[in-house]
Amino acid sequence: MNEMPYHRMRVITVANQKGGVGKTTTAINLTTALAAIDKRVLLVDLDPQGNASTGLGIERDNREISSYDVLTGAASITEAAMPTAVPNLFVVPSTLDLLGVEMEISGYEDRAYRLRNALRRHAQEGAHFDYVLIDCPPSLNLLTINAMAAANSVLVPLQCEFFALEGLSQLLQTVEQVRNGLNPGLDLHGIVLTMYDGRNNLATQVVRDVRAFMGEHVYQTVIPRNVRVSEAPSFGKPAILYDMKCPGSQAYIRLASEMIQRERQLAAA
Ligand code: ADP
Ligand code: MG
Repeated sequence: MNEMPYHRMRVITVANQKGGVGKTTTAINLTTALAAIDKRVLLVDLDPQGNASTGLGIERDNREISSYDVLTGAASITEAAMPTAVPNLFVVPSTLDLLGVEMEISGYEDRAYRLRNALRRHAQEGAHFDYVLIDCPPSLNLLTINAMAAANSVLVPLQCEFFALEGLSQLLQTVEQVRNGLNPGLDLHGIVLTMYDGRNNLATQVVRDVRAFMGEHVYQTVIPRNVRVSEAPSFGKPAILYDMKCPGSQAYIRLASEMIQRERQLAAA
């Protein structure tokens, strides 16, 4: 079912209300991997922290138009999208203004659809992205709801740690609620296990548990814990640009091809 007149544009929301699970790292490196295979890609930074913007080399002082302006209606996606060092990859950066945006848009009838409507207008203008990924804040607030209401699918990073599954049912419930109300076309895209340390027995157990619990929703690709991945943002670069050969970058490249496959299956369904 595809109710959304985005044409061929696929919109994927990266969400988990826990912080530090790898949402931003996944959003940055998946978009980079997709851009590297000649897709035209947009990353929308919806976290007031702005880590995705920083990680793509957009300094705070350069964020004149941001996702805040898109949500309030002051700017279009076309106006807000900035080029990055990665060819074909654009970012709508975020600023701390986002912290107050809920209050500002809560009075609008379309408060949950602000982002979807902006993306629709963008698609209607004939502008075209193959993929739009949305990096969410660590919360199930109106920003995350906007991201889910705008999306074709949700991608959930889970950190391979003891409490990995904690909070997952609440997140899945939210996805279900959005599907039942705001966005019937929303799919649970998949769960990606991040920061895996093979030397740690607990991590291996977590992978087993999550696969047992979530079955084929879990991607085959597991992202290893890799210091090169954590260093990259301080250089304003995706890990895939910073060190393409490191195990973390290689895993994100594999994840991108797995994701494209799933996208094809979902789009055909
Ligand atoms: P979130 O967006 O969910 O808060 P981040 O993507 O910002 O999470 O990741 C949290 C921290 O973990 C960051 O410092 C990031 O650099 C680090 N990190 C993420 N993925 C990896 C990885 N595969 N290996 C090592 N460090 C990682
Ligand atoms: Mg983040």
